[in-house]
Amino acid sequence: MNKIVVLGGAESGVGAAVLAKVKGFDVFLSDNGSIKEEYAKTLRQWDIPFEQGGHSEEKVLCADEVIKSPGIPSTAPLVQKLVQQGTHIVSEIEFASRYDKAKKICITGSNGKTTTTSLIHYLLKEAGLNVGLGGNIGKSYALQVATEQHDYYVLEISSFQLDDTYDFRPDIAIITNITPDHLDRYDHDMENYVRAKFKITQNLRPEDCFIFDSDDAITVEHLSKIVLKAKMLPFSQEKEVEQGAFVRDDKMVVRVDKGESEFFLESLALSGRHNLYNSMAAAIAAKVSGVRDEVIRESLSSFKGIEHRLENVLSIGGVLYVNDSKATNVDAAWYALECQTRPVVWIVGGKDKGNDYEVLKPLVEKKVRAIVCLGVDNSKIHAAFEDIVGAQNISDTHSAAEAVKVAAAFATKGDVVLLSPCCASFDLFQSYEDRGRQFKAAVRSL
Ligand code: ADP
Repeated sequence: MNKIVVLGGAESGVGAAVLAKVKGFDVFLSDNGSIKEEYAKTLRQWDIPFEQGGHSEEKVLCADEVIKSPGIPSTAPLVQKLVQQGTHIVSEIEFASRYDKAKKICITGSNGKTTTTSLIHYLLKEAGLNVGLGGNIGKSYALQVATEQHDYYVLEISSFQLDDTYDFRPDIAIITNITPDHLDRYDHDMENYVRAKFKITQNLRPEDCFIFDSDDAITVEHLSKIVLKAKMLPFSQEKEVEQGAFVRDDKMVVRVDKGESEFFLESLALSGRHNLYNSMAAAIAAKVSGVRDEVIRESLSSFKGIEHRLENVLSIGGVLYVNDSKATNVDAAWYALECQTRPVVWIVGGKDKGNDYEVLKPLVEKKVRAIVCLGVDNSKIHAAFEDIVGAQNISDTHSAAEAVKVAAAFATKGDVVLLSPCCASFDLFQSYEDRGRQFKAAVRSL
């Protein structure tokens, strides 16, 4: 086999194309849309032929193997044609892992992937290990396999990236949690979505580890239906576990093999119940990788957190402004509200992905003083919460600057203004990052 076609010319596809080139394949990259200049430049540098603005079918259909970027749905007509003629389609991580002997810690789940991935990477780095960070964050895994040399990889993996994997096998697999999100890509079938996430475990061997949230009903239910050969390392805030992590009094306890380590909850840098889950998953992964307790302790308390995830922006006149723009679904916003200890002026809204706001109502009742809607269509938010906060305490806004001004007017000393939108950003912003940055800029110019 020597002709490889890569579909999609962004981070994942370009990384895969470079790796295929390095490995001596005849590579061609094709993108239906336009390819960003930085990626086109990389392709030219590596002397990889490519096309954009459409696919030349004859060139794509003659591939021996196709590497499909995760953004391209399997229902795309060209992909269907490839399937029909029996062409093998793989994902970038499947392809790259063929050429990589490093130990892989791979994280998937509905929420907390980026936080947990970054935290584990930090823990391993602080321990002096030669570790790469990739997958859905930063540089693609394939590009690193092509151009760098690491002993470990910590990879954030979305369920789309797992779609075309066959032999891909992590040494440590983590599912942070499973809640409905992106159901549209799975025919609105929760079972399909759960199975897609669990693909991360499909090749685990007895010596590998599976780290999961045993408080998560969907994960536990699915586990009861399958057989996993890996070492099971659950984390829980509700009960003690024999192996894995749990909470005892004011400490997080991590048990791996015969050892037991304790970490004061108060010393953890990341706050909130959801982040305790992330810290637990990270601590187990670090412990399994042989990182010393002192290093785990020190690193869990010195980790700086990441932009747009419950990020403290500024305190102005006793009002704290928090940017949680990455909370694009109900579950993430639930945790953001849950961990607030001060009255909340909540900035919420955007492109609704079929949200059911019911679960948020008790929290809104308990914690939220006023709501500032930030979206094109805010009718569902009004319908869900107007009766709870009162019509005089809910306002519609259409820009980050306006939302921050209105929120500041609602807030009094001791409050928190929390941007945790519960929705995607594409109605008013380019991305959640754009929304978060505009929010921060507006806060700074108050
Ligand atoms: P992902 O990469 O899976 O989207 P992030 O770490 O970027 O996850 O966090 C996304 C959002 O979800 C943020 O608003 C964050 O505060 C929230 N979040 C983080 N970890 C968890 C968790 N374990 N459970 C629920 N929500 C979480």
